[in-house]
Amino acid sequence: MISEFQQQIVKLKKEKNAVIFAHSYQSPEILEIADKKGDSFALSVAAKEVDCETVILCGVRFMADTVKILSPEKNVILPVPQATCPMAEQITPERVLQYKAAHPDAAVVAYINTTTALKAVCDVCVTSSSALKIVRQLEAPEILFIPDKNLGSYIKRQLPEKNIVLWDGYCPVHNGVTPEDCIQIKKQFPDLKILMHPELPGEVLQYGDVIGSTAAIINYAMEHDEDCIIGTEKSISDYLSLQKPQHQYPLLSKRLMCPDMRLTTLLDVYKALTGESGEMIQLDGEQRLRAKRPIDEMIRLG
Ligand code: SF4
Repeated sequence: MISEFQQQIVKLKKEKNAVIFAHSYQSPEILEIADKKGDSFALSVAAKEVDCETVILCGVRFMADTVKILSPEKNVILPVPQATCPMAEQITPERVLQYKAAHPDAAVVAYINTTTALKAVCDVCVTSSSALKIVRQLEAPEILFIPDKNLGSYIKRQLPEKNIVLWDGYCPVHNGVTPEDCIQIKKQFPDLKILMHPELPGEVLQYGDVIGSTAAIINYAMEHDEDCIIGTEKSISDYLSLQKPQHQYPLLSKRLMCPDMRLTTLLDVYKALTGESGEMIQLDGEQRLRAKRPIDEMIRLG
């Protein structure tokens, strides 16, 4: 049963011909009224297919940008403009261009968690669920993987035949988890499997029973009649606890809380719909087209 305020938002979005898209890391109150929830890529693709004037994107900036890259005809609003992913800017486009000039045969693979300016200078984007499949298909003699060294190393370990060069970026939320956290939680819950996101460091992933994207973690927990330890952002443990109250989903580490993902509130969503706040995403036309190419390539290969 949704609250009166949530009902007001639902009514308003219908009047404005708008939809609410929410990343899985958003709060349960937002997820409850979202027209679509999922990871950043699922949301971008869904935005192309939905018939509406406006998309309210509850997440962080690169996600709103990706929706706009794929659906330029729609109004895309980020309710809280300062909600950004720190990892998305851990390398500059200039640095990528320098690398390409020095390594003309290399392919540059960008995790979807990157700015539009970065995507515009890369060859192919990947998500955590499609990275392995896409990188396996690349024929370039050298592959620069940006920005997440943890996801990049996870792929590199599985594709030893590929010459993968890693950038020294990381998600500050996942990268803060330590092997000690795994040892401690296993002492508390020795029989539970640990479900882990590949943005966690390699020395932590060794303790994982299931390694996969946010969507893969949710799917595993939903499909199995068992308690599980959640090794990704806390919101996923909260979400699963609401969906399956008969089970326990303890969090691997208390460090797994993303401050940027927690910035958006129901009031921000309401104000984005009334036009009182939020930022209408505007992208440079030429840069948008250049950034769309690696995303199209991801869709083709993935
Ligand atoms: S959890 Fe990490 S990758 Fe995701 S938005 Fe937060 S900082 Fe970025």
